[in-house]
Amino acid sequence: MELEKRIGSTKIIIKKGDITKEKVDAIVNAANSRLLGGGGVDGAIHRAAGPTLLEECKRIGWCEPGDAVVTDAGNLSAKYVIHTVGPIWRGGARGEENTLKNAYISSLKRAMEKKVRTISFPAISTGAYGFPIDLAAKITLLAIKEFLEKNPHVFDEVRLVLFNDKVFNSFKEALERYLK
Ligand code: ADP
Repeated sequence: MELEKRIGSTKIIIKKGDITKEKVDAIVNAANSRLLGGGGVDGAIHRAAGPTLLEECKRIGWCEPGDAVVTDAGNLSAKYVIHTVGPIWRGGARGEENTLKNAYISSLKRAMEKKVRTISFPAISTGAYGFPIDLAAKITLLAIKEFLEKNPHVFDEVRLVLFNDKVFNSFKEALERYLK
């Protein structure tokens, strides 16, 4: 199932699925700061992209939480992988909300610099990093909305590819509530 809203000339799409199967210009990876691959979506993207992705990540070496770096996409059908680092949830008093917002904004900026028109995101920080899912959905959609209102003609599609029903349902509710 796919749900869609529009801001300017950009479609915001939420769907259930596996991000490694997306046919878009760029996919975003929920990486860790060392950029060495890991579990979850990071592991899936590295497996699907092949070893050149890790080589390029090792050359870059580091990404701060809230920042994003770009590599080629190896064997994936995307042109680029944008690696961003979300916050680890530690109770909410350590700037986690702001860091999550920055992860989305930084990724969209890097994508814009590369002239990407279509981009797919996973639900950053909602797996191993433990961010509460309803709050993550709200912050994610409001961050994307803020960026698209400032840059209404940069992207054709911003897609959120959600791996399970629980996350999909949270994003569906947030889409209806915050992107009227
Ligand atoms: P983080 O460390 O940022 O929490 P995770 O990879 O553990 O990253 O989880 C982030 C989100 O990605 C979770 O909602 C998880 O269910 C989801 N996920 C895991 N594998 C995939 C995949 N192949 N495609 C899309 N989303 C995925």
